[in-house]
Amino acid sequence: MSTKTAERIRETLNFHKKTAPGIYLAVIMLELAEKKFNIKEKSNYVMETHFCIPDPIQILKGATLGNRYIRHEIQSGRFAFTVFNRDTKKGLRVYVDSKKIDREKMPYFYEFYFRCRDLSSLTREEHNKFVIEEIKKLGENMISSQEVMVNLDEKEPMKRTDLCTKCGEVFLLNYEDQKICGECEKGKDSYYTVL
Ligand SMILES: [Zn+2]
Repeated sequence: MSTKTAERIRETLNFHKKTAPGIYLAVIMLELAEKKFNIKEKSNYVMETHFCIPDPIQILKGATLGNRYIRHEIQSGRFAFTVFNRDTKKGLRVYVDSKKIDREKMPYFYEFYFRCRDLSSLTREEHNKFVIEEIKKLGENMISSQEVMVNLDEKEPMKRTDLCTKCGEVFLLNYEDQKICGECEKGKDSYYTVL
């Protein structure tokens, strides 16, 4: 692993606040994308997971949830992301390739990735250390990429706003003639209850 990569991992861990093997993997995946795709300042990213991958992209590439250069398709459930050009919609999808995960060569990573860690003789932290050693050694070897076309709108259409007739807050309309906000629509399934 180059000193540049190690430095970028350090920077991302500092932002992430936890020593997570996924951060090592995510930085290596991002660097693979940088090698194979002409990433520009205004490139957009699609996340297939909330875990780890968004952090190096936010801290090292300046694409954030807030500036909406990052989008989520997390129902995918895969440890992967796509970087794409907004104008052409051409992109590169980077993913952990399960066909390349050799249980013999990377036993700790295998247990980590398939979520079948044996923690009877090791703590999670100790196990993480071994996983990280394997990622440092083999990182790029377990990653694949594919050229893709992204089927998302270039920009989300600008939504109108209105006052919710129930809570009185301004909300973005999801459809014409929407009278109450998306959260009030959920009723008792709302993510919160006012105390
Ligand atoms: Zn409301």
